[in-house]
Amino acid sequence: MTSGLSSATVSNVVSDLINDGVVAEAGLVDSDGGRPRTLLQVRGEFGYVVGVDIGETHVQIGLFDYTLKTMATATYSVAATRLEPDSVVSLVVAGVDEVVSKVGVHAGDLLGIGVGVPGAVQAGAHELVHAPTLGWSAVPLADMLRRELSVPVYLDNCARTLGQAEMWRGAGRGARRVIVALLGVGVGAAVATAPESFRDMMSTTSTTSEWGHTVINVDGRPCRCGSKGCLEAYVGAEAVLDDYLRLRDATPFAQEGTEARLAELVARAKAPGAAAQVLDKTAEYLGIGISNLINLLSPDRVVLSGWAGATMGPAILPAVRDTVRRHALPYMYGQVRIELGELGPEAVALGAATLPVIRVLAAGGSKPS
Ligand SMILES: [Zn+2]
Repeated sequence: MTSGLSSATVSNVVSDLINDGVVAEAGLVDSDGGRPRTLLQVRGEFGYVVGVDIGETHVQIGLFDYTLKTMATATYSVAATRLEPDSVVSLVVAGVDEVVSKVGVHAGDLLGIGVGVPGAVQAGAHELVHAPTLGWSAVPLADMLRRELSVPVYLDNCARTLGQAEMWRGAGRGARRVIVALLGVGVGAAVATAPESFRDMMSTTSTTSEWGHTVINVDGRPCRCGSKGCLEAYVGAEAVLDDYLRLRDATPFAQEGTEARLAELVARAKAPGAAAQVLDKTAEYLGIGISNLINLLSPDRVVLSGWAGATMGPAILPAVRDTVRRHALPYMYGQVRIELGELGPEAVALGAATLPVIRVLAAGGSKPS
């Protein structure tokens, strides 16, 4: 295997995967006999992948090379509109066109399109998306996209694919068990476990939870899920903005849109006052939510991710850590690191792009048909 991997024909993605701990899997494949050559072949005829992030505030389409390096992105704000499946399909088609022409890639060079959805994907002959936060029930999104795009399309939950990406090349590298906290308007978490074999990597190594709807306050705020006191009702982006606007010394936001307003809030929080007070409280609620996850799942790393995690993370991380120190069991706290996501603003799209990469690896390097 060593000689194979040091070959000049090995592309960067292999070394990336080696760095990211997949080398053991390559070893297992090697012991099967004959396969490493196939793996190298994957890298030789490299192509591009597309990742799609369907969120409540934006639809983002990213073009990545085979090492998951971002080549181009197209982002469409959807803040004010209800996200109908038909319009999502139109945005994805437009976005794929946009990123592909920006980079000058031919559609035939695309290995596949991965789509991360903020909900559950029901497997079957026709995969169906259930995403209550978007008002989607049994939407055949994959079929709809396949009708418009002549490239393989794969769907999965966005927190799960994000967990995969953080594990491969983000803040989860080298960890045994990572919890990725996905913060946006909604709040979710993925639990990703380092694959122990090549076969593992092909199947799911990341599972999701409805962490946002775990209760942190008895008789607390009403949540859009119908319950009360859910974590999301305290640390979801809109909840944080509402919190601020309820304070007497809050001043109206200059900008429209949840993402722009949260950035404005974080900028204001640099000086003492209402904004700083709200972020402190948010850090405490989030820290309690994370402590619960740590006590339940004993991870060695927790990663704050998602667009709201990226916006608020640098400002709240010290206070989050401090809250966790006070609430997690000491021996659990002693073995965990809490870090910011490292995948940038296109983290969720990048996570979705791991779906076609996994399929290509699983197919032994052949382009999916
Ligand atoms: Zn809830």
